[in-house]
Amino acid sequence: MGKPTGFIEYPREEMEKAPVVERIQNFNEFEKPQAEARVKTQAARCMGCGIPFCNWGCPVSNLIPEFNDFVYKGQWKSAYGTLMSTNNFPEFTGRVCPAPCEPACTASLVEKPISIKQIELSIIEKAFREGWVKPNKVPYRTGMKIAVVGSGPAGLSAAQQLNLVGHSVTVFEKSDRLGGLLRYGIPDFKLEKWVIDRRISLMEAEGITFKTNAHIGENISIDELKQSFDFICLCCGSEKPRGISHLEGNDKKGIHFAMEFLTQQNQENHGDQVHPKVKINAKDKHVVVLGGGDTGSDCIGTSIRQGAKSVTQIQIHKELPTERYDSNPWPLWPKVQTTSSSQAEGCERIFSVLTTGIKGTDKIEALELQKIQWPDGEIKSGQRNYEVIKDGNYDIPCDLLLISLGFEHAIHEGLVDQLGLEKDARGNIKVNNFRTSDPQIWAAGDMVEGANLIVTAINSGRQMASTIKKFIISQQG
Ligand SMILES: Cc1cc2nc3c(=O)[nH]c(=O)nc-3n(C[C@H](O)[C@H](O)[C@H](O)COP(=O)(O)OP(=O)(O)OC[C@H]3O[C@@H](n4cnc5c(N)ncnc54)[C@H](O)[C@@H]3O)c2cc1C
Ligand code: SF4
Repeated sequence: MGKPTGFIEYPREEMEKAPVVERIQNFNEFEKPQAEARVKTQAARCMGCGIPFCNWGCPVSNLIPEFNDFVYKGQWKSAYGTLMSTNNFPEFTGRVCPAPCEPACTASLVEKPISIKQIELSIIEKAFREGWVKPNKVPYRTGMKIAVVGSGPAGLSAAQQLNLVGHSVTVFEKSDRLGGLLRYGIPDFKLEKWVIDRRISLMEAEGITFKTNAHIGENISIDELKQSFDFICLCCGSEKPRGISHLEGNDKKGIHFAMEFLTQQNQENHGDQVHPKVKINAKDKHVVVLGGGDTGSDCIGTSIRQGAKSVTQIQIHKELPTERYDSNPWPLWPKVQTTSSSQAEGCERIFSVLTTGIKGTDKIEALELQKIQWPDGEIKSGQRNYEVIKDGNYDIPCDLLLISLGFEHAIHEGLVDQLGLEKDARGNIKVNNFRTSDPQIWAAGDMVEGANLIVTAINSGRQMASTIKKFIISQQG
């Protein structure tokens, strides 16, 4: 373990953030890990628990106490090796993971948790700086050909794991660039895109082939893939957005899904020209973001950087307490009120309201809201036993409405329907140990689990790869 008295001696320190006035002037990353010596002090806070709940809380089961200890002792290369043994892409998770390991950390029972995410990012970035990150050598090729459809975190981790054991992997991506939501969902201010390019270059050097503008079921047929590859892994994400079809006037100008808006800004950050006729611009507008989560926050941060007149976020659920409910004890993910870095940049947040109408002629001008009252205590997901407050309806100005209500499931039209794959009750692809109803086709990531996190997608891709590896070995007797 680190220093036995470390967590008593040293307070938790957060990563340094550029001041709001400065960071909203551009789309650059604004969070920087601390200097090495200070990160070592943070690692010294780790108690090396006998039962490390951080490891339980981490979807890829990172060996957190082990790498903390290496960092504390200054053995960064060993820390790097330990980190890479469970996580293919710590440079992504170190930047944008909500870090479920941290609220699960034992220290958070009485104190602030160990700064695990910051330590993770510091390890991987030091490894890159020192030149320790090299393409993995693949000692032999099995002759087995595997197609991975989709280049998000699930597809990338599956591709890397399968390639490592000698299978020949080709990744097909319908978009013009690789990375899935890392590329076109998450804004640069959270994850600059050279970080993805750096990893893709390594994976290419490892022998993985990438094909962009390759839309399976559209410009490349699934039959072609089935004939050319032994196994096909679908990692196509959960792209069907939840909409507002229940609201009259939902087709007015100025109403867009979050991903339309975020994709355009990410394209522009890449240097692409978005045609002014289709460009969704928040400049000088009253922007309303409908819904929460990472996507909602990304819309807020992007609108502020584009120069919105005002940004308001409205949510149906009530404002959460600052302390956990008794029904939500440690080490579970805490259902408490938080403020994302984008919300902190200047956004009004309205809770416990329904959206009841859209006003305007051909263009949205205002949103009709209705205040509601929730019962006391924890509200479970899907619970709807609120009461409408009498005379609690009012309008707010809105000339750009960004819908961020989550995602229903993977897109069924095209590939999924062509394959006739079985789905679960929520419309996600039904799998048995990652194998779909078509024995040649496997699936992982958000496509199977529903919209989730980068770290869960990485884990899902890894687990699917491991199942395929075992299946191939079992077939070879
Ligand atoms: C705006 C936004 C912000 C987010 N921020 C965070 C965050 O900060 N932290 C976090 O942990 N999670 C975040 N998430 C969630 C996270 O990004 C996803 O859970 C994760 O990317 C899912 O990975 P995936 O590989 O399953 O799918 P995706 O990342 O969605 O990748 C799927 C890929 O498949 C491709 N594809 C689909 N169909 C085909 C086809 N037929 N042929 C070829 N290619 C195809 C798509 O183009 C896409 O590139 C965010 C999500 C959104 C929408
Ligand atoms: S739970 Fe916290 S203190 Fe315990 S080993 Fe994990 S990071 Fe260290």
